[in-house]
Amino acid sequence: MPARRSLFLAAGAAAAAAALPAQAAAPRAGTRNPGFHRTMVGDVEVTVLLDGAMGGGGEAGIPRFLPDSTPEELRILRERAWWMDNGLHQPVGAYVLNTGRQLVMVDCGGHSSFIPTTGNTLAALRASGYQPEQVDVVLLTHIHPEHALGLSYDGTTRNFPNAEVVVSAVDHAFWTDPAQESRVPQGQRFIEAGRRAIRPYADRIRTFAMDREVEVLPGIFSVPAPGHTPGHVSFRFTSQNQSMLIWGDIAHQTVIQLARPRWRVGVDVDQAMGVESRVRHLEMLSSERILVGGVHVPWPGFGRVVRDGEGSFAWVQRPFQFG
Ligand SMILES: [Zn+2]
Repeated sequence: MPARRSLFLAAGAAAAAAALPAQAAAPRAGTRNPGFHRTMVGDVEVTVLLDGAMGGGGEAGIPRFLPDSTPEELRILRERAWWMDNGLHQPVGAYVLNTGRQLVMVDCGGHSSFIPTTGNTLAALRASGYQPEQVDVVLLTHIHPEHALGLSYDGTTRNFPNAEVVVSAVDHAFWTDPAQESRVPQGQRFIEAGRRAIRPYADRIRTFAMDREVEVLPGIFSVPAPGHTPGHVSFRFTSQNQSMLIWGDIAHQTVIQLARPRWRVGVDVDQAMGVESRVRHLEMLSSERILVGGVHVPWPGFGRVVRDGEGSFAWVQRPFQFG
C-alpha cells in the first residue's frame, strides 16, 4: 500500500521537524455520554434516559426468546445491525415528559440487583437537569423489572418520593394476585422484583381499564398491547399536531422483530396475543408516520417504523442531530 506508507513517512518527517518538547501520553478519558437525549414534540419536552443494557440471556437464550427463529435467518438479520457477537444486545431506556403542567416518566429503568448492567436512570435523570423529587407521575407499560424496578430498589424506599404510579388494572392484578403466579413465564424472581418495585407506592397507585384507550393524564392516552403481559400498554400523546407513541416491549430487538413481527416471543404470557399486538402497533405506526420511542429501541431512543416488504417492517433511527 504505497499511498498509505508515504502518508506515515510524511507525518513522521513533520513531527521531527517541529521538534516539540516530549509530552506524556494523554491518559484515556474513559468518560461516557451522560445518558440522556432530548427533543420537543409540540409543546411537550421529551427526554430519553439510558438506564443500561442487557444481553437477553446470551446466545443460549435465543431459542427460548425467539422460538420461531432459525440460526440461518438470524444470521442474515444480525448482519443488518451492530450486534454484540454473543446474544441479543438490548438497550434499556426510560422517558421523561415535561408537559408544562407535570413531569411524567414512562417506565423508569431497572436495577443492578436484578440485571447488573441496568440501573442508571436516576443518574441520567439528574444529569438531564431534573431531580427525582420533581417527578409527579410514573406511567408503567407493565411491571417487568427493567421497566419498573427504578421505582424502588429495596422495596421500602420510594426513589420518586412524590410520584403517583399509574398502571393498567390488569397488569397490577397480574403481579399482585397470588392466583396468577403460575402464569408468569419467568417465575418467582420476576414476581419478587415486580412486587418490590411497587410496594412503597401501595397507597398512591392508580389503575386504568385495559379494554380501550384511556386518557390517563391530560392529553396522554394508554394504548392496549396485551400479550407480553396481560396488562401491557403503550402510551401516546399529541401536542401541536405532533404525536409520539412510547412502547414498552412491542419489540425487544428492532432489527429482528420488526422484520419478523409474527415470530412469537417465548417469554410472552400469551404469545399469539403478543404477535397480534405487535403487528397492530407496527401497521398503525407505519401508516401514521409518527415519532416512536420504546424501552429497548436503539439509543438515543427516537425513531419511526416503516414498511419493508410484505409483512415486514423496519426501524428508522431519528438522527441525533435533529435534537
Ligand atoms: Zn417486559
